[in-house]
Amino acid sequence: AAKDAGRGVYRFYADAMHNQASERKAIEDALRDALVKDELRLLYQPIVDVGSERITGFEALIRWHHATEGMISPSKFIPIAEESNLIVPIGEWIIRTACASIALVGPGYRIAVNVSPRQFANEKLPATILSAVSAAGIRPEQLELEITEGVFLDESPENLAMFRQLKRTGVRLALDDFGTGYSALGYLKKAPFDKIKIDQSFVLGAADPSSMNAAIISSIVGLATALKMETTAEGVETHDDLALIRGLGCSHVQGYIYGRPMELAEMLTLLREGGGHAEARGYKCTR
Ligand code: C2E
Ligand code: MG
Ligand code: MG
Ligand code: MG
Repeated sequence: AAKDAGRGVYRFYADAMHNQASERKAIEDALRDALVKDELRLLYQPIVDVGSERITGFEALIRWHHATEGMISPSKFIPIAEESNLIVPIGEWIIRTACASIALVGPGYRIAVNVSPRQFANEKLPATILSAVSAAGIRPEQLELEITEGVFLDESPENLAMFRQLKRTGVRLALDDFGTGYSALGYLKKAPFDKIKIDQSFVLGAADPSSMNAAIISSIVGLATALKMETTAEGVETHDDLALIRGLGCSHVQGYIYGRPMELAEMLTLLREGGGHAEARGYKCTR
């Protein structure tokens, strides 16, 4: 009986794996058409200067409105886009769309775009970026590329060469999700990022006195300051967390307290009406 049960468990896993594989395949096929079907959208989330409480820019975050499945989250389809290399054309669309949007917002603001490891490994990335920047008529410093910590885990000559090439284009580079990888601190010296983004797992509930997060954030800010890098605390939702983050010396914050990811039209209205000044209190959260 134990043997039968074992076989049953095996079957269950085999089916689950098969279902997972076919679901991935279905997503990959649909994703192939998503660009031509105009199903991809970028939303924009404000990034706010802690001292002045002014919006300094936005992070572009992708959404996929699938015809029948509805909204699919990036954490579900970006890994599949990565594996299938579809991230290269999709990533180019993201960069071009984000640059065009920030051109509408104005010269005083930045746009941050997430760049996947596969895109980062693509030798055409610097050319794509320069072409998008000049097509939109923005300054390269207005574009910030967010690269997750994992990419730099191997300090390969290729990674460092790409990093330097991107720097030479004049765009800014941010190290995303800091603290979630293995934090090989050595690469921060070799790859001088302009900004470190502190992962929201350290930020959410950081004001809770029983949490070690405040100590961790404080040491990341210390490191960034010594290396002359800016810091953005991500996932700031409450006034307590905001007060703590301010006290710890983070230069920027991003989170629901100042605004959820929003449509282009909302972003333009927000800046027209608020002049870029983000009041934590009374700030309208629509999503
Ligand atoms: P990320 O780059 O670290 O983005 C931050 C995530 O935190 C976003 O989730 C954002 O909506 C969410 N967030 C912001 N403020 C708060 C807050 O106060 N509380 C909470 N609970 N969450 C907050 P999202 O939009 O679902 O994106 C998830 C991840 O998917 C991103 O993490 C990024 O790694 C990836 N991603 C999103 N858009 C793109 C893209 O255009 N290209 C690539 N390659 N990856 C993308
Ligand atoms: Mg990001
Ligand atoms: Mg993250
Ligand atoms: Mg992040």
